[in-house]
Amino acid sequence: MPTYRAPVADTLFVLNDVLGYARHANLPGFSDAGPDVLEAILGEAARLAEEVVQPTNRIGDIEGCARHGDGSVTTPAAFKDAWRQYREGGWLGLAVPADFGGQGLPYTVHSAVGEYFSSANMAFTMYPGLTQGAIAAILAHGSDEQKKAYVPKMAEGAWTGTMNLTEPHCGTDLGLLRTRAVPAGDGTYRISGQKIFISAGEHDLSENIVHLVLARIEGAPEGVKGISLFIVPKFLPDASGDPGARNAVSCGSIEEKMGIHGNATCVMNYDGATGWLLGEANGGLKAMFVMMNEARLGVGMQGLAVGEVAYQNAVAYARERLQGRSLSGPKEPDKKADPIIVHPDIRRGLMTMRAFNEAGRALVLWTALQSDVAHRSGDDKERQAADDLLGLMTPVIKGVLTDKGFEHAVMAQQVFGGHGYIEEHGMSQFVRDARIAMIYEGANGIQALDLVGRKLALNGGRAVQAFFKEVGEFCEANRADEKMVPFTKVLKKGLNDLQAATMWLLQNAMQKPDNAGAASTDYLHLFGLVALGYMWGRMVKAAQQKLGEGGDAAQLCEAKLVTGRYFMERVMPETAAHLARISTGADTMMALPAEAF
Ligand SMILES: Cc1cc2nc3c(=O)[nH]c(=O)nc-3n(C[C@H](O)[C@H](O)[C@H](O)COP(=O)(O)OP(=O)(O)OC[C@H]3O[C@@H](n4cnc5c(N)ncnc54)[C@H](O)[C@@H]3O)c2cc1C
Repeated sequence: MPTYRAPVADTLFVLNDVLGYARHANLPGFSDAGPDVLEAILGEAARLAEEVVQPTNRIGDIEGCARHGDGSVTTPAAFKDAWRQYREGGWLGLAVPADFGGQGLPYTVHSAVGEYFSSANMAFTMYPGLTQGAIAAILAHGSDEQKKAYVPKMAEGAWTGTMNLTEPHCGTDLGLLRTRAVPAGDGTYRISGQKIFISAGEHDLSENIVHLVLARIEGAPEGVKGISLFIVPKFLPDASGDPGARNAVSCGSIEEKMGIHGNATCVMNYDGATGWLLGEANGGLKAMFVMMNEARLGVGMQGLAVGEVAYQNAVAYARERLQGRSLSGPKEPDKKADPIIVHPDIRRGLMTMRAFNEAGRALVLWTALQSDVAHRSGDDKERQAADDLLGLMTPVIKGVLTDKGFEHAVMAQQVFGGHGYIEEHGMSQFVRDARIAMIYEGANGIQALDLVGRKLALNGGRAVQAFFKEVGEFCEANRADEKMVPFTKVLKKGLNDLQAATMWLLQNAMQKPDNAGAASTDYLHLFGLVALGYMWGRMVKAAQQKLGEGGDAAQLCEAKLVTGRYFMERVMPETAAHLARISTGADTMMALPAEAF
């Protein structure tokens, strides 16, 4: 049976020693979660994730969800108590403003604990995750009345949320969507249409489900310009705000799928359901993007989270499994064979996963901090700079961490040999669960296009230039420090490759857009490597400083130096391969006619 230990010490190292969390005490919410409180929150989240949520993971995978004759859907029985404890702990409303029933703590803290819960049980954690995304959209675009009616109940977990974009004929190309909204004359709309693949669309964990639904108001323009967003609750709130009459929305079926069996993936039928416009008419995609951006960071986190728990179990197995002898002579001569952790090829997998996970955690938390600054700082310039980085990093985190999350779940499975393929060990579940994160919230190919086609050029390339400057200045500032040279030299080379790829795109993609499409996935991963390499640079610097000060974190810091060196030696050189591929352009890729395939 798989196990999980939340990496609290590592999270604290990143927040306190690398990112200087305490320096942000002036931002609203941060003083309520100073260093001691932060540590206590992480500790309590770790306990809940390890002892309560994680034990439901395999049970949820086996039992799955069930739809019944009356259209109701039940989640795995074990989820009920975990959900109760999760709710009672106030975890859903951690970063929701106190005015709306939350605790108003930093999004950074919410992100830190979010990793633990997703590692413990990804399918379970999607129920609160979607709710938090829906809360963000209502807070950003809702009227005061809507905020008051929905957010406190959702922050408490009494009601949950969903996002309804996908229809049978459209997932990526939302301009094609057909769900209709007809004004009822009393300020509400009647929503009709079918949505598919709706996560948490129907279930038995909450009293009410608040669906955020994209639909086209009668007479609205074709394409994405004619899409609006609606709040469509399963039960219409009555005069006192409690769940009242049943709305005309129902779950037609749930999908049989590869993984995340504990999360109900529903076909949702809207048969003239009552809905309220959220935000402006025809401004639905913009409003939904608030939810999607938050959800994309959450999905990137899922990649990291599953990669981490898979890694932890691979380490445990590699320490115990006895096969063959070390190439450099027996390490455990008393036994018939050495544990497989002595073999360099096993180490290659373990070190690769570890190096990505630790940098991925730092990147997620650094970006979460940008989100807090962007939303909470009183300084316009600081807010804008943070918002630029947040927007730039969102597709990178979603695309790179989920591609790698799946790759690493497979890598961890490989450590188990044949036993990894057998369900009993749980590695197969990690592989199956991690796979969806590459697809939903915008398939990773679309994340790559978002980066290349939109984010690079946004505001004249302001965000990307600021990122290049920050990484370049870090390398420059540490150039004279000989302990840092092995790290900054490689990072600078990666940055040069990224800048060369960016220049190549500027020169070759305008007149020939296929060149941008052909480059996009390589560019996304090249960008990710430099961002993760930058995180390693900062972590190594912090570890060296901490080691110099003495104290009790020597083991963690020494391991950081080794893992950081591994990343620079073994992973960063891939930037050159990405650049080489990007520079070949689209010609060969597009040369064969479609019928030749
Ligand atoms: C388990 C599960 C849960 C989900 N949860 C939700 C949910 O809660 N709410 C919701 O609304 N949806 C949800 N989805 C739907 C999911 O977001 C979509 O499946 C996804 O966005 C892709 O859409 P699609 O399946 O229609 O694929 P398509 O849009 O048909 O895309 C197929 C392939 O073509 C590529 N592609 C498409 N257009 C382009 C282009 N212009 N350039 C390059 N490549 C392109 C895509 O990257 C993809 O690889 C879920 C799906 C699953 C399987």
